[in-house]
Amino acid sequence: MIIAVDGPSGAGKSTVARILAKKLGFLYIDTGAMYRALTLKALENKIPAGDEKRINELAAGVRIDLRNNCDGSLSVILDGRDVSLDIRQARITRFVSDVAKIKEVREIMVRMQRELGQKKDCVLDGRDIGTVVFPDAQKKFFIDAAPQVRVQRRFKELKGLGQDITLSDVEKDLSNRDKIDSTRQISPLRRAEDAIYIDTSDLSIEQVVDKMLGFIR
Ligand code: C5P
Repeated sequence: MIIAVDGPSGAGKSTVARILAKKLGFLYIDTGAMYRALTLKALENKIPAGDEKRINELAAGVRIDLRNNCDGSLSVILDGRDVSLDIRQARITRFVSDVAKIKEVREIMVRMQRELGQKKDCVLDGRDIGTVVFPDAQKKFFIDAAPQVRVQRRFKELKGLGQDITLSDVEKDLSNRDKIDSTRQISPLRRAEDAIYIDTSDLSIEQVVDKMLGFIR
């Protein structure tokens, strides 16, 4: 069974998708982490986000593994190295949407995601899971929240990771990524027609997960 969880940044989809997967005993696949890992590799190789040719070459040879740990956390392994924390840095967040809008990059990532998803029951979260990666997913959710709520949540999350950022930095980042992700030519962020829409603005994580479980069962 495939469960697709899409939505904009900061709506809480990764958190609920991870918990949902654990409760169901499914594999959790954070597709945003895959785009972030590739972006990290590009920056480490000093390749600017605009150099599509070299980024495509990198994408063609990259190895990204997602490890579901027993405690419910996810480790992101880039070419054999654990980069779970590195990919959350602001310098990655700033460029990831420019990398993710490249056609060939998306083709490679979508192929990897389909391979991972075919092995086992899984919950995938991202922007295009229900529309492009698994259009036939048995259950699709679109997780949303009011812009101010999303900013506050992301701010708290990044502060929790020890990052030195301001509310206005987060606001700028979210609105910039929302714009690039929803207006790009290939697989823009949009709700699949058959996706269940959940506005999480006034809901706790547990309430969202319970709602999702209710729809699944
Ligand atoms: O989910 P997260 O915020 O970590 O995703 C980082 C970025 O990766 C998004 O802003 C988007 O540009 C890109 N992304 C995507 N398609 C996905 C998942 C993420 O384009 N399925």
